[in-house]
Amino acid sequence: MELTVERDLPPVLADLPATALADQLGGPTLFDLRKPDQPPLFVSVLLHGNEVSGWDAVRALFAEITDASTLLFLGNLEAAAHGVRALPGRADFNRVWEQGESAEAAVAAEVTTYVKAANPRMALDIHNTTGENPPYAVISRLDPETLAFAGAFSTRALLATQPHGFQTRRFAQFCTAMTIEVGTPEDPSSTTRATGFLAALLADNAPPNGARVPESLSLYETAARVTLADGTVLDPDMQRFNFRTAPAGTALTRSGSLHATAADDRDLGPEYFGTNNGLAVLKRPTMLAMYTGEEEAARRDCLCYFLEPVT
Ligand SMILES: [Zn+2]
Repeated sequence: MELTVERDLPPVLADLPATALADQLGGPTLFDLRKPDQPPLFVSVLLHGNEVSGWDAVRALFAEITDASTLLFLGNLEAAAHGVRALPGRADFNRVWEQGESAEAAVAAEVTTYVKAANPRMALDIHNTTGENPPYAVISRLDPETLAFAGAFSTRALLATQPHGFQTRRFAQFCTAMTIEVGTPEDPSSTTRATGFLAALLADNAPPNGARVPESLSLYETAARVTLADGTVLDPDMQRFNFRTAPAGTALTRSGSLHATAADDRDLGPEYFGTNNGLAVLKRPTMLAMYTGEEEAARRDCLCYFLEPVT
């Protein structure tokens, strides 16, 4: 896997679904479409190969992207060709931006160096959620510009302290950066939402909201990352508690137990879980996010996060 840098965006690409990009481009590709004296907008899509709404938004905005000063990164095209988040046995392309020995980490480091040197005005990474979630922003800083950026997209923002190595966390070290989770890939409104937001950013060089933090913005942080114990069976119905509070006593799975881990790897299991007939149940009301109904995604990454409001 090697990074290719291209200076123009061939219109023919707009006809291709995410699954066809690897054939056309070979692998991860950075389009450098900067204009002189205009700090670029950096946009990345397909860090997760099956999260196609970002690419579909880009396809709808080829003229606008080409006219603006833009850096566009297309990430895991091999995974996209197979319609999966990441290929089996390979690194997750959104966990490699801070360190690592993988080919993906090498590409991420190269992209980071390139983009940092370009001094972008903002960085936007577009994702789909695996589970049913309302749209939300993920940020890793709390300065007014970042909060205003988040508030321009959604009334919900997540201050993420984990997992390590996600792109926004790295890029926030040198520019205003945010991940947007636009909804599931299956839902057509996810692409509409991504397209509308990206179009607004491309049309206006000014910071969103004039860098004012909207009062409507609810800010949460991830207090714990929740993973499945061996043999535990998840419960897709729990997706209804994403960004909502599940009452004490709720069993989050159909069987087995769960692990809850803090960003510093502390075991938070005893704080959150009791047991009822061998089933892990919440000890106290808890807000969930990103609960996935898909076994494979839950095993590969995590089942969900527990949120706490940031006050
Ligand atoms: Zn993703």
